[in-house]
Amino acid sequence: MDEKLKRELIAVVGKEQYTESLLDMVSYSYDASEHSHRPACGVLPRTTEQVAEVLKLAHREKIPVVPRGAGTGLSGMAIPVKGGIVLDLSRMNEILEINIENRLAVVQPGVVYDDLQNLLAPYGFFFPPDPASGKVSTLGGNVATNAGGLKGAKYGTTRDYVLGLTVVLPDGRILKTGSRAMKSVSGYDLTRLFVGSEGTLGVVAEITVKINPRPAATSTALATFDDLGDAGNALTEVMHSGIIPSALEILGREALLAINRNTDLALPEVDMMILVETDGYTRQETEFQMEKVIAVFQRNNPREIKRAKNQKEADELWRARKSAYAVLARMKTHFVLEDVTVPMSNITALLKGVQHIAKERNLQIATYGHAGDGNLHPQILYDGYDPDQVKRMEKASEDLFRVAIELDGTLTGEHGIGLSKAPFMTLEHDAVAMEVMRGLKRFFDPHNILNPGKMALEDETSGSAGSAERS
Ligand SMILES: Cc1cc2nc3c(=O)[nH]c(=O)nc-3n(C[C@H](O)[C@H](O)[C@H](O)COP(=O)(O)OP(=O)(O)OC[C@H]3O[C@@H](n4cnc5c(N)ncnc54)[C@H](O)[C@@H]3O)c2cc1C
Repeated sequence: MDEKLKRELIAVVGKEQYTESLLDMVSYSYDASEHSHRPACGVLPRTTEQVAEVLKLAHREKIPVVPRGAGTGLSGMAIPVKGGIVLDLSRMNEILEINIENRLAVVQPGVVYDDLQNLLAPYGFFFPPDPASGKVSTLGGNVATNAGGLKGAKYGTTRDYVLGLTVVLPDGRILKTGSRAMKSVSGYDLTRLFVGSEGTLGVVAEITVKINPRPAATSTALATFDDLGDAGNALTEVMHSGIIPSALEILGREALLAINRNTDLALPEVDMMILVETDGYTRQETEFQMEKVIAVFQRNNPREIKRAKNQKEADELWRARKSAYAVLARMKTHFVLEDVTVPMSNITALLKGVQHIAKERNLQIATYGHAGDGNLHPQILYDGYDPDQVKRMEKASEDLFRVAIELDGTLTGEHGIGLSKAPFMTLEHDAVAMEVMRGLKRFFDPHNILNPGKMALEDETSGSAGSAERS
């Protein structure tokens, strides 16, 4: 880092909030993806004004700045692929306001998802997006990636709850978007433009979110199916039943086999396990919904249906689904967790496609995910020290994206584009859409300093994933 710029950055954030230590640089070089690249330094601002001053300096010097929350992203979104400054927002972690009367909360971007949830609980309220990384991921990261979770089908994703933002633009100007009102059609929807923009257009410095009253009751059940076709029909029929479950999760055969080999859960080795949860404000309400869903399962040749009688039994039914990621992550030296999403009626076709790809590429791919919104997580397991397996993994990912797009789906329902999916943006978005996205990037960030090298936004890279190394 240039000495003059270093002194100026320290003057803005203070000595304690500036780092070049090797340990920190290595930590900042990773997120939860397979990519890595070291920055030159890290700064940890505490206020919006400090963020603005840091960006003014970076804009003047044309130096890259990469916003970072908790670094749990799975697509290399927070990797400082072109070096420069990591803007670590984890110390901007104050919950500024809980306003039950107006059903909203105002937070700084470094607040951890679960910390907001825990503060809302005594009021009987919750913030619904519910990413599985909620124990550690930050609300700034959740906004920048439009995070979603298990309850997406019924409650939507982060995008549906952001009322307004304070955003620092790449040149240091401070922009306020949206309002505290529940509805607004005033001007362009700038809030939504920033949600999911992966830190490429501006730095989110304050977030106003809508909150919901927490349903007081849930019912949980599990069904297993020997045949993928029957399971697929059951899922489609649930959609016709008039009920929107609060969770509708699936585990495919490969995932069940892998969990059995690595735990004592002794799961049935079937084509599909479906876990369903209904929620409401009374027990009667949730049971009414659950009966309708179970009637659907019964019509579609299940091997078994289990219904939880109490919370302990419900937790037991959830165990297999909740253990999937961690169990699979330990099975090989490396893995890639995809998050392709298709219209619900194409889930079975996607699962068949995954089986075909696994066979063709001779790789283990275990699938689980959120059937309620068509968002599946095929987890590709491979040995990252074996170049042949790495090559086959890359091919399998590409095959998967092609299958998802052919099935009217999308590259990513949760984890974003970042570096991992940048080369495939043009599979999903036509030339006009790419031109508009690149034009927006140029408008907000003419020097391309904010999180450069991501989302195929640079004309010259034309969908290339940049120069990050795979670890
Ligand atoms: C075990 C595990 C489970 C996961 N489960 C889910 C899940 O259920 N649903 C889901 O959606 N994702 C999930 N993820 C992915 C990840 O947790 C989410 O993408 C999360 O929103 C990232 O938050 P973060 O604070 O870690 O952000 P980071 O990884 O630090 O950053 C992610 C992106 O956001 C940008 N960014 C961060 N903060 C700001 C800011 N204040 N302003 C502008 N840009 C910013 C970064 O530049 C980067 O582009 C999971 C990840 C893991 C490891």
